[in-house]
Amino acid sequence: MEGSIAGLRETFKSGRTRSVAWRKNQLKAVIDLINENEQTIYKVLHQDLGKDPAESYRDEMGVILKSANYALSCLDKWVAPKKAELPLVFFPAKGEVLPEPVGVVLIFSSWNFPITLALDPLIGAISAGNAVVLKPSELAPACSSFFIETIPLYLDNKAVKVIGGGADVGERLLELKWDKIFFTGSPQVGRLVMTAAARHLTPVTLELGGKCPAVVDAFSSHSKTKVIAKRIAGGKWGLCSGQACIAVDYLLVEEKFASTLIELLKKNIKRFFGGNLGDLKCVSRIVNKHHFERIYHLLKDPHVASSIVHGGSVDEERLVIEPTILLDPPLDSEIMTEEIFGPLLPIITLKNIEESIDFINSRPKPLVIYAFTEDGTFKKRILSETSSGTVTFNDVMVQFVCDSLPFGGAGQSGFGRYHGKYSFDTFSHEKAVLHRAFFPELEPRYPPWNDFKLRFIKLAYRFDYFGLILLLLGLKKP
Ligand code: NAD
Repeated sequence: MEGSIAGLRETFKSGRTRSVAWRKNQLKAVIDLINENEQTIYKVLHQDLGKDPAESYRDEMGVILKSANYALSCLDKWVAPKKAELPLVFFPAKGEVLPEPVGVVLIFSSWNFPITLALDPLIGAISAGNAVVLKPSELAPACSSFFIETIPLYLDNKAVKVIGGGADVGERLLELKWDKIFFTGSPQVGRLVMTAAARHLTPVTLELGGKCPAVVDAFSSHSKTKVIAKRIAGGKWGLCSGQACIAVDYLLVEEKFASTLIELLKKNIKRFFGGNLGDLKCVSRIVNKHHFERIYHLLKDPHVASSIVHGGSVDEERLVIEPTILLDPPLDSEIMTEEIFGPLLPIITLKNIEESIDFINSRPKPLVIYAFTEDGTFKKRILSETSSGTVTFNDVMVQFVCDSLPFGGAGQSGFGRYHGKYSFDTFSHEKAVLHRAFFPELEPRYPPWNDFKLRFIKLAYRFDYFGLILLLLGLKKP
């Protein structure tokens, strides 16, 4: 392992990954990797998570093709130095911000969107001109093997390496020195990553999870309520069966609207996914026995079980859990204190929807707050009185594919961000460059000090030297 990383460092030192042509070739290679292995990717995603081809293309392959093509089309603009405005005091001078690669970076990815969460940060890292080690999740073993076998056939294997394995391999990787660590995973392992990174003062981006609430306020017309229920049902259960960091974890709704919402959600579950456990369709399975037991355990608490208003059945052999709705489970039960990361949806009722702000603020900062509302004042309150990585109004999940929006957490849901240009920035160092000339030279900055010089310096900070000279000459600053 150490040998491979030393090799990457040599490659980076040689300057090969800095060339824009190299970056573009690697991005094209990512596109070819997806296009030429479409059927294999469907197969490995089905093996690991039971995803069907449409879900696989929409949530994984399509996302990567979009990201890589976007990076290719913007790369020349991103790498160009940006002119910086300088104070006139330095005239004549030139300032610029020059993005440069950080070096050799380590990317940890998670298993729930195993293709997207590995290749999307990789696109950012190679766009920015870095050498990369990708450590995919061992919990999606077919996808991990696919990367180990296929990435060396497409990408420059002197600059991009895949290292498979579990926590033990992760721990060994964390002992080494990196120029950046990009981690997608749980807050528990995120803490280990940050502790290890601190030893070498390595910068980290942590893409973590948590409980994402959806506040449901807009019941102004039946047609809008139907859209809300459709979007929530599709987003909660249609993407990896709720095993998504940005999935709606629980709903907050006024008491008087709960039954309407529940009925509409049930209808949509039946329409999208089928009537009962036996004939469920388009639903991914739970990733493994451990996570199946973890989610089932949340349901088994008798106080929680008695709050089930829809679903609740499980098929242990196939690792499938029916889309399940719960009404007002106890707030101190694990289903309301831990991230669910599965197909269970608690609905918490409030007397007044405005109470949702205090409810959210009494818990760790979420990755996303969803809010269905048309009330402009309430929207402003949500934006100004809560904190989260993202706020999405009147939809769920779709923010993930908007390249112009940064994707990342706040507080316990992580820090740093990526997607689109933000990915390039995340893997770049913005070097400040200042070019000065030798003339003109103004003495007051240098000792020996006297009152006149002190006054001059104060005025210079207020107007800058050039303005000051103009002032002294009785002219107006341009
Ligand atoms: P995890 O933290 O168990 O694993 C993430 C990665 O860390 C894997 O590659 C794993 O092999 C590695 N790892 C595990 N233990 C390690 C250790 N002791 N030392 C070093 N490396 C170790 O998380 P997970 O089960 O893959 O994912 C679930 C969590 O990730 C959830 O909390 C979810 O919300 C979060 N998540 C966040 C995002 C996001 O974009 N913010 C996306 C997906 C998942």
